[in-house]
Amino acid sequence: MSTNLKTSLLQPISSLSAKEARTIRYVLMDIDDTLTTDGKLSAESYAALWKLHEAGLMVIPTTGRPAGWCDLIAREWPVDGVVGENGAFVFWEGEGHRLAMLTHPNAIPNSDRRLVALRDQVLARIPSARLARDQFSRLYDIAIDFAEEEPVLPLSTAQKIKELFEQGGAHAKISSIHVNAWFGEYDKLSMTIHYLTERFGYDDAHDAASVVFVGDSPNDEPMFAHFPMACGVVNLLTYRELVAHLPHFVTSGRSGSGFSEFAQVLLDRRAS
Ligand SMILES: [Mg+2]
Repeated sequence: MSTNLKTSLLQPISSLSAKEARTIRYVLMDIDDTLTTDGKLSAESYAALWKLHEAGLMVIPTTGRPAGWCDLIAREWPVDGVVGENGAFVFWEGEGHRLAMLTHPNAIPNSDRRLVALRDQVLARIPSARLARDQFSRLYDIAIDFAEEEPVLPLSTAQKIKELFEQGGAHAKISSIHVNAWFGEYDKLSMTIHYLTERFGYDDAHDAASVVFVGDSPNDEPMFAHFPMACGVVNLLTYRELVAHLPHFVTSGRSGSGFSEFAQVLLDRRAS
């Protein structure tokens, strides 16, 4: 199902052509360690979002972050929607400042008994693991923190947590800070396609080159695999062993600096 026709990977973002840049209509990006740097949303990175928005591009963060955060993002950031909890839903600000929400048809609330039992098993078997502090504002998934707060646990522990959830039949993905787990068939990619199609008339069979996605970690892999114009910020290479599908482009800067670099190249090429 991949429409990724590009065979060369990790090309410098500076090689983006004017023609490719002008074809782009939707700019999607991960948040943690793509927009943010060491946990902070820099002025540079936030300004890049505004510049993309003011250039008329559709700006859509796609994140593992919870519903509680997505309410704020949809209302306060210069965005045309935010895909949250790894694809369980999209929030956007509609007419009259009303918060609109599209939930993936396969999303299952995180009060699901199987998921709660698995959460307890994981926490019992891996004593250094802990629930993410944003768990209280989640609707559909469980997030286990391994790197947002100290002590930072090794990636091998994150892998182990992921495997325990998967052995219990759940989906699990590793971001740069959390392991997220859920029941229900969806991910960032399937929700993104569903939203773009329903809201903007996007046709995935023909329009994939109108989407660019920027990300940094293994939970972004479905997006890297599908969108031919996908771009990694350079810190993605930390997870190289865990990512089978690398993006076509890569930035030279890490995290927020890399995202700003990407935005500047895109806007420059469109103007050239
Ligand atoms: Mg990330």
